Amino acid sequence: MAPAEQIAQAQQLKTLLRRYAHRYYVLDDPEVPDAEYDRIYQQLEALEAAWPELVTPDSPTQRVIGAVLEGLAPVRHAVPMLSIKTETDTTPAGALKFDTSVRNALKLADDAPPLAYAAELKFDGLAINLRYEQGELVQAATRGDGETGEDVTHTIRTIKSIPNYLKHGNVPVLEVRGEVFMRRDDFEALNERQRESGGKTFVNPRNAAAGVVRQLDAGIAQQRPLSFFAYGLGEVQGWDVPATHSATLDALAAMGVPVNQDRQVVQGAQGLADFHALIAAARDSLPFDIDGVVYKVDDRGLQQQLGFKSREPRWAVAHKYPAQEQITRLNGIEIQV
Ligand code: NAD
Repeated sequence: MAPAEQIAQAQQLKTLLRRYAHRYYVLDDPEVPDAEYDRIYQQLEALEAAWPELVTPDSPTQRVIGAVLEGLAPVRHAVPMLSIKTETDTTPAGALKFDTSVRNALKLADDAPPLAYAAELKFDGLAINLRYEQGELVQAATRGDGETGEDVTHTIRTIKSIPNYLKHGNVPVLEVRGEVFMRRDDFEALNERQRESGGKTFVNPRNAAAGVVRQLDAGIAQQRPLSFFAYGLGEVQGWDVPATHSATLDALAAMGVPVNQDRQVVQGAQGLADFHALIAAARDSLPFDIDGVVYKVDDRGLQQQLGFKSREPRWAVAHKYPAQEQITRLNGIEIQV
Protein backbone atom coordinates (compact mmCIF):
# COMPACT_ATOMS: atom_id res chain seq x y z
CA MET A 1 0.00 0.00 0.00
CA ALA A 2 1.47 3.38 -1.04
CA PRO A 3 2.09 5.84 1.82
CA ALA A 4 -0.39 8.74 2.14
CA GLU A 5 2.28 11.17 0.94
CA GLN A 6 2.71 9.32 -2.40
CA ILE A 7 -1.07 8.96 -2.85
CA ALA A 8 -1.49 12.71 -2.38
CA GLN A 9 1.44 13.50 -4.70
CA ALA A 10 0.05 11.27 -7.48
CA GLN A 11 -3.35 12.97 -7.11
CA GLN A 12 -1.71 16.38 -7.36
CA LEU A 13 0.28 15.44 -10.47
CA LYS A 14 -2.80 13.98 -12.20
CA THR A 15 -4.81 17.13 -11.48
CA LEU A 16 -2.03 19.35 -12.81
CA LEU A 17 -1.57 17.25 -15.97
CA ARG A 18 -5.32 17.29 -16.67
CA ARG A 19 -5.37 21.08 -16.30
CA TYR A 20 -2.40 21.56 -18.64
CA ALA A 21 -3.80 19.03 -21.13
CA HIS A 22 -7.15 20.82 -21.22
CA ARG A 23 -5.43 24.11 -22.03
CA TYR A 24 -3.27 22.41 -24.68
CA TYR A 25 -5.68 20.02 -26.42
CA VAL A 26 -9.08 21.61 -25.85
CA LEU A 27 -8.37 25.34 -25.74
CA ASP A 28 -5.24 25.30 -27.98
CA ASP A 29 -3.72 27.72 -25.48
CA PRO A 30 -0.95 26.02 -23.45
CA GLU A 31 -0.21 27.25 -19.96
CA VAL A 32 3.33 25.78 -19.70
CA PRO A 33 6.07 24.73 -22.17
CA ASP A 34 6.04 21.10 -23.38
CA ALA A 35 9.23 20.30 -21.49
CA GLU A 36 7.47 21.22 -18.22
CA TYR A 37 4.45 19.04 -19.11
CA ASP A 38 6.81 16.15 -20.00
CA ARG A 39 8.73 16.58 -16.70
CA ILE A 40 5.55 16.28 -14.61
CA TYR A 41 4.30 13.37 -16.77
CA GLN A 42 7.55 11.47 -16.14
CA GLN A 43 7.30 12.20 -12.41
CA LEU A 44 3.86 10.59 -12.39
CA GLU A 45 5.11 7.64 -14.48
CA ALA A 46 7.96 7.03 -12.00
CA LEU A 47 5.59 7.22 -9.04
CA GLU A 48 3.17 4.79 -10.70
CA ALA A 49 6.03 2.41 -11.52
CA ALA A 50 7.09 2.37 -7.85
CA TRP A 51 3.50 2.04 -6.55
CA PRO A 52 1.40 0.24 -9.20
CA GLU A 53 -1.81 0.65 -7.18
CA LEU A 54 -1.60 4.40 -7.95
CA VAL A 55 -2.30 3.58 -11.61
CA THR A 56 -5.99 4.40 -12.06
CA PRO A 57 -7.84 3.93 -15.39
CA ASP A 58 -8.35 7.71 -15.62
CA SER A 59 -4.66 8.53 -15.06
CA PRO A 60 -3.15 10.72 -17.83
CA THR A 61 -0.56 7.92 -18.30
CA GLN A 62 -3.33 5.45 -19.19
CA ARG A 63 -5.59 7.38 -21.52
CA VAL A 64 -5.35 9.92 -24.28
CA ILE A 65 -6.52 13.30 -23.04
CA GLY A 66 -8.75 15.40 -25.24
CA ALA A 67 -12.33 16.46 -25.68
CA VAL A 68 -14.80 17.52 -28.33
CA LEU A 69 -15.16 21.27 -28.74
CA GLU A 70 -18.72 22.54 -28.53
CA GLY A 71 -19.98 23.29 -32.04
CA LEU A 72 -18.01 20.48 -33.72
CA ALA A 73 -19.83 17.18 -34.22
CA PRO A 74 -18.39 14.14 -32.43
CA VAL A 75 -16.94 11.33 -34.59
CA ARG A 76 -16.53 7.86 -33.13
CA HIS A 77 -13.26 6.35 -34.44
CA ALA A 78 -13.65 2.87 -35.93
CA VAL A 79 -10.07 2.17 -34.79
CA PRO A 80 -8.89 4.15 -31.71
CA MET A 81 -6.33 6.90 -32.31
CA LEU A 82 -3.61 6.25 -29.78
CA SER A 83 -0.53 8.00 -28.50
CA ILE A 84 3.13 6.98 -28.77
CA LYS A 85 5.46 6.30 -25.88
CA THR A 86 8.05 9.07 -25.52
CA GLU A 87 11.70 8.20 -25.01
CA THR A 88 13.15 11.21 -23.25
CA ASP A 89 16.73 9.97 -23.11
CA THR A 90 17.85 12.16 -25.99
CA THR A 91 21.20 10.34 -26.42
CA PRO A 92 21.78 7.28 -28.69
CA ALA A 93 21.06 5.17 -25.57
CA GLY A 94 17.37 6.03 -26.13
CA ALA A 95 17.44 4.15 -29.45
CA LEU A 96 19.16 1.16 -27.86
CA LYS A 97 16.53 1.06 -25.08
CA PHE A 98 13.69 0.84 -27.62
CA ASP A 99 15.45 -1.81 -29.74
CA THR A 100 16.18 -3.88 -26.61
CA SER A 101 12.57 -3.67 -25.42
CA VAL A 102 11.30 -4.82 -28.84
CA ARG A 103 13.81 -7.69 -29.10
CA ASN A 104 12.97 -8.82 -25.56
CA ALA A 105 9.22 -8.66 -26.23
CA LEU A 106 9.74 -10.77 -29.38
CA LYS A 107 12.00 -13.15 -27.39
CA LEU A 108 14.78 -12.84 -30.00
CA ALA A 109 18.12 -14.55 -29.31
CA ASP A 110 21.12 -12.22 -28.79
CA ASP A 111 22.64 -13.33 -32.10
CA ALA A 112 19.40 -12.90 -34.10
CA PRO A 113 19.88 -10.41 -36.99
CA PRO A 114 19.01 -6.72 -36.47
CA LEU A 115 15.35 -5.73 -36.87
CA ALA A 116 14.21 -3.39 -39.64
CA TYR A 117 12.65 -0.14 -38.42
CA ALA A 118 10.84 2.64 -40.24
CA ALA A 119 12.39 5.87 -38.94
CA GLU A 120 10.37 9.06 -39.49
CA LEU A 121 10.12 12.67 -38.37
CA LYS A 122 7.76 13.48 -35.52
CA PHE A 123 5.79 16.38 -36.94
CA ASP A 124 4.62 18.87 -34.34
CA GLY A 125 1.01 19.48 -35.27
CA LEU A 126 -2.19 17.61 -34.59
CA ALA A 127 -3.34 14.14 -35.54
CA ILE A 128 -6.09 13.85 -38.15
CA ASN A 129 -8.00 10.88 -39.51
CA LEU A 130 -9.00 11.22 -43.20
CA ARG A 131 -11.74 8.82 -44.23
CA TYR A 132 -11.92 7.89 -47.92
CA GLU A 133 -14.82 5.83 -49.24
CA GLN A 134 -14.46 4.52 -52.81
CA GLY A 135 -11.51 6.90 -53.13
CA GLU A 136 -13.44 10.03 -52.11
CA LEU A 137 -12.69 12.07 -48.98
CA VAL A 138 -15.89 11.90 -46.94
CA GLN A 139 -14.78 12.92 -43.44
CA ALA A 140 -11.86 14.34 -41.47
CA ALA A 141 -11.68 14.09 -37.68
CA THR A 142 -9.33 15.06 -34.84
CA ARG A 143 -8.04 12.50 -32.33
CA GLY A 144 -10.08 13.86 -29.38
CA ASP A 145 -9.81 11.40 -26.50
CA GLY A 146 -8.71 8.65 -28.89
CA GLU A 147 -12.16 7.04 -29.03
CA THR A 148 -14.16 10.07 -30.14
CA GLY A 149 -12.80 13.00 -32.11
CA GLU A 150 -14.26 16.12 -33.72
CA ASP A 151 -15.59 16.43 -37.26
CA VAL A 152 -13.32 18.99 -38.94
CA THR A 153 -14.04 18.05 -42.57
CA HIS A 154 -14.88 21.71 -43.40
CA THR A 155 -11.46 23.08 -42.39
CA ILE A 156 -9.45 20.09 -43.64
CA ARG A 157 -10.99 20.56 -47.11
CA THR A 158 -9.17 23.92 -47.28
CA ILE A 159 -5.77 22.12 -47.22
CA LYS A 160 -4.78 22.07 -50.86
CA SER A 161 -2.31 19.17 -50.60
CA ILE A 162 -4.98 16.77 -49.26
CA PRO A 163 -6.64 15.11 -52.26
CA ASN A 164 -10.43 15.01 -52.42
CA TYR A 165 -10.06 11.92 -54.59
CA LEU A 166 -7.34 9.28 -54.38
CA LYS A 167 -5.51 8.12 -57.48
CA HIS A 168 -6.47 4.47 -58.23
CA GLY A 169 -9.28 5.19 -55.80
CA ASN A 170 -11.53 2.17 -55.71
CA VAL A 171 -10.80 1.04 -52.12
CA PRO A 172 -14.16 0.76 -50.29
CA VAL A 173 -12.84 2.23 -46.99
CA LEU A 174 -9.39 3.68 -46.44
CA GLU A 175 -8.65 5.81 -43.39
CA VAL A 176 -5.38 7.71 -43.67
CA ARG A 177 -3.86 9.05 -40.46
CA GLY A 178 -1.38 11.86 -40.37
CA GLU A 179 -0.37 15.20 -38.95
CA VAL A 180 -1.72 18.61 -39.91
CA PHE A 181 0.83 21.32 -39.24
CA MET A 182 1.76 24.85 -40.20
CA ARG A 183 5.06 25.55 -41.94
CA ARG A 184 7.30 28.04 -40.17
CA ASP A 185 7.04 30.65 -42.95
CA ASP A 186 3.23 30.37 -43.01
CA PHE A 187 3.21 30.74 -39.21
CA GLU A 188 5.38 33.89 -39.29
CA ALA A 189 3.23 35.41 -42.03
CA LEU A 190 0.01 34.59 -40.10
CA ASN A 191 1.30 36.18 -36.88
CA GLU A 192 2.45 39.23 -38.86
CA ARG A 193 -1.03 39.63 -40.33
CA GLN A 194 -2.59 39.12 -36.90
CA ARG A 195 -0.35 41.82 -35.39
CA GLU A 196 -1.21 44.25 -38.19
CA SER A 197 -4.93 43.70 -37.75
CA GLY A 198 -4.74 43.74 -33.92
CA GLY A 199 -5.79 40.07 -33.74
CA LYS A 200 -4.58 37.30 -31.42
CA THR A 201 -1.08 35.99 -32.20
CA PHE A 202 -0.21 32.31 -31.76
CA VAL A 203 2.40 30.88 -29.40
CA ASN A 204 3.88 28.42 -31.92
CA PRO A 205 3.04 26.72 -35.24
CA ARG A 206 1.49 23.72 -33.46
CA ASN A 207 -1.05 25.84 -31.63
CA ALA A 208 -1.77 27.91 -34.71
CA ALA A 209 -2.47 24.71 -36.70
CA ALA A 210 -4.72 23.27 -33.99
CA GLY A 211 -6.59 26.57 -33.72
CA VAL A 212 -7.18 26.73 -37.48
CA VAL A 213 -8.33 23.10 -37.82
CA ARG A 214 -10.81 23.47 -34.97
CA GLN A 215 -12.33 26.69 -36.34
CA LEU A 216 -16.07 26.53 -36.90
CA ASP A 217 -15.69 28.88 -39.86
CA ALA A 218 -13.98 27.30 -42.90
CA GLY A 219 -13.56 30.80 -44.39
CA ILE A 220 -10.98 31.63 -41.71
CA ALA A 221 -9.13 28.37 -42.35
CA GLN A 222 -9.02 29.27 -46.05
CA GLN A 223 -6.78 32.25 -45.26
CA ARG A 224 -4.41 30.31 -42.96
CA PRO A 225 -2.45 27.73 -44.95
CA LEU A 226 -1.88 24.32 -43.39
CA SER A 227 0.11 21.30 -44.52
CA PHE A 228 -0.28 17.55 -44.02
CA PHE A 229 1.87 14.40 -43.94
CA ALA A 230 0.43 10.88 -43.64
CA TYR A 231 2.08 8.43 -41.21
CA GLY A 232 -0.36 5.54 -40.85
CA LEU A 233 -3.78 3.97 -41.31
CA GLY A 234 -7.08 3.72 -39.43
CA GLU A 235 -9.95 1.51 -40.62
CA VAL A 236 -9.36 -0.30 -43.91
CA GLN A 237 -11.87 -2.39 -45.89
CA GLY A 238 -11.14 -4.03 -49.21
CA TRP A 239 -7.47 -3.13 -49.54
CA ASP A 240 -4.55 -5.53 -49.18
CA VAL A 241 -2.41 -3.52 -46.79
CA PRO A 242 1.30 -3.92 -47.72
CA ALA A 243 3.39 -6.14 -45.43
CA THR A 244 5.54 -3.32 -44.08
CA HIS A 245 4.86 0.15 -42.72
CA SER A 246 7.31 1.75 -45.15
CA ALA A 247 5.67 0.09 -48.16
CA THR A 248 2.27 1.27 -46.86
CA LEU A 249 3.48 4.88 -46.88
CA ASP A 250 4.90 4.37 -50.40
CA ALA A 251 1.49 3.08 -51.51
CA LEU A 252 -0.28 6.10 -49.96
CA ALA A 253 2.17 8.44 -51.73
CA ALA A 254 1.36 6.69 -55.02
CA MET A 255 -2.33 7.42 -54.36
CA GLY A 256 -1.51 11.14 -54.16
CA VAL A 257 -1.44 11.48 -50.35
CA PRO A 258 1.37 13.75 -49.05
CA VAL A 259 4.06 11.60 -47.36
CA ASN A 260 7.30 13.10 -46.06
CA GLN A 261 10.36 11.71 -47.80
CA ASP A 262 12.86 12.37 -44.97
CA ARG A 263 12.18 8.82 -43.79
CA GLN A 264 14.35 5.73 -43.89
CA VAL A 265 14.22 2.02 -43.25
CA VAL A 266 17.15 1.33 -40.91
CA GLN A 267 18.62 -1.76 -39.26
CA GLY A 268 18.83 -2.22 -35.50
CA ALA A 269 19.72 0.20 -32.69
CA GLN A 270 22.71 1.64 -34.56
CA GLY A 271 20.54 2.49 -37.56
CA LEU A 272 18.04 4.26 -35.28
CA ALA A 273 20.77 6.21 -33.47
CA ASP A 274 22.31 7.28 -36.81
CA PHE A 275 18.91 8.52 -38.03
CA HIS A 276 18.38 10.44 -34.76
CA ALA A 277 21.77 12.17 -35.21
CA LEU A 278 21.16 12.87 -38.91
CA ILE A 279 17.84 14.59 -38.24
CA ALA A 280 19.25 16.48 -35.21
CA ALA A 281 21.74 18.09 -37.59
CA ALA A 282 19.04 18.94 -40.16
CA ARG A 283 16.34 20.01 -37.69
CA ASP A 284 16.87 23.77 -37.79
CA SER A 285 16.86 23.88 -41.58
CA LEU A 286 13.55 22.01 -41.95
CA PRO A 287 10.67 24.24 -43.10
CA PHE A 288 8.47 22.98 -40.24
CA ASP A 289 8.80 22.10 -36.54
CA ILE A 290 9.48 18.58 -35.33
CA ASP A 291 9.74 17.53 -31.71
CA GLY A 292 11.70 14.35 -32.29
CA VAL A 293 11.79 11.30 -34.52
CA VAL A 294 9.56 8.22 -34.45
CA TYR A 295 10.79 4.64 -34.77
CA LYS A 296 8.36 1.91 -35.83
CA VAL A 297 8.91 -1.82 -36.28
CA ASP A 298 8.55 -2.01 -40.06
CA ASP A 299 7.04 -5.50 -40.39
CA ARG A 300 3.27 -5.42 -39.87
CA GLY A 301 3.21 -9.07 -38.68
CA LEU A 302 5.72 -8.26 -35.93
CA GLN A 303 3.70 -5.15 -35.01
CA GLN A 304 0.66 -7.36 -34.49
CA GLN A 305 2.70 -9.76 -32.38
CA LEU A 306 3.93 -6.87 -30.20
CA GLY A 307 0.48 -5.33 -29.75
CA PHE A 308 -0.44 -2.44 -27.44
CA LYS A 309 0.06 -1.36 -23.85
CA SER A 310 -2.76 0.87 -22.52
CA ARG A 311 -2.62 4.00 -24.72
CA GLU A 312 0.46 3.14 -26.84
CA PRO A 313 1.71 0.52 -29.30
CA ARG A 314 4.72 -1.52 -28.13
CA TRP A 315 6.15 -1.35 -31.67
CA ALA A 316 6.72 2.42 -31.83
CA VAL A 317 8.47 5.10 -29.81
CA ALA A 318 8.98 8.87 -30.13
CA HIS A 319 12.64 9.74 -29.51
CA LYS A 320 12.89 13.39 -28.55
CA TYR A 321 15.65 15.98 -28.85
CA PRO A 322 16.91 18.22 -26.05
CA ALA A 323 14.53 21.19 -25.63
CA GLN A 324 15.59 23.91 -28.04
CA GLU A 325 16.86 27.16 -26.55
CA GLN A 326 14.02 29.50 -27.31
CA ILE A 327 11.94 32.24 -25.81
CA THR A 328 8.28 31.36 -25.75
CA ARG A 329 5.54 33.78 -24.91
CA LEU A 330 2.93 32.20 -22.65
CA ASN A 331 0.22 34.18 -20.93
CA GLY A 332 2.06 37.38 -21.80
CA ILE A 333 5.16 36.23 -19.87
CA GLU A 334 8.38 35.36 -21.64
CA ILE A 335 9.60 31.91 -20.63
CA GLN A 336 13.02 30.48 -21.48
CA VAL A 337 12.77 26.82 -22.47
P1 NAD B 1 2.52 12.82 -28.79
O1 NAD B 1 1.86 13.95 -29.47
O2 NAD B 1 3.84 13.11 -28.19
O3 NAD B 1 2.64 11.55 -29.76
C1 NAD B 1 1.60 11.02 -30.50
C2 NAD B 1 1.29 11.88 -31.68
O4 NAD B 1 2.45 12.08 -32.47
C3 NAD B 1 0.32 11.28 -32.65
O5 NAD B 1 -1.00 11.48 -32.23
C4 NAD B 1 0.64 12.04 -33.91
O6 NAD B 1 -0.23 13.14 -34.01
C5 NAD B 1 2.03 12.57 -33.71
N1 NAD B 1 2.99 12.19 -34.77
C6 NAD B 1 3.80 13.08 -35.42
N2 NAD B 1 4.57 12.47 -36.32
C7 NAD B 1 4.25 11.15 -36.28
C8 NAD B 1 4.72 10.01 -37.01
N3 NAD B 1 5.69 10.09 -37.93
N4 NAD B 1 4.16 8.82 -36.72
C9 NAD B 1 3.20 8.70 -35.78
N5 NAD B 1 2.71 9.76 -35.06
C10 NAD B 1 3.24 10.97 -35.30
O7 NAD B 1 1.67 12.23 -27.71
P2 NAD B 1 0.51 12.89 -26.93
O8 NAD B 1 0.30 11.99 -25.79
O9 NAD B 1 -0.59 13.23 -27.82
O10 NAD B 1 1.02 14.30 -26.45
C11 NAD B 1 2.13 14.52 -25.73
C12 NAD B 1 2.82 15.73 -26.31
O11 NAD B 1 2.01 16.88 -26.18
C13 NAD B 1 4.10 15.96 -25.60
O12 NAD B 1 5.06 16.43 -26.50
C14 NAD B 1 3.72 17.05 -24.61
O13 NAD B 1 4.81 17.84 -24.26
C15 NAD B 1 2.66 17.81 -25.35
N6 NAD B 1 1.71 18.41 -24.41
C16 NAD B 1 2.00 19.63 -23.94
C17 NAD B 1 1.16 20.23 -23.02
C18 NAD B 1 1.49 21.60 -22.50
O14 NAD B 1 0.80 22.07 -21.60
N7 NAD B 1 2.48 22.26 -23.04
C19 NAD B 1 0.02 19.57 -22.57
C20 NAD B 1 -0.25 18.30 -23.09
C21 NAD B 1 0.62 17.72 -24.01
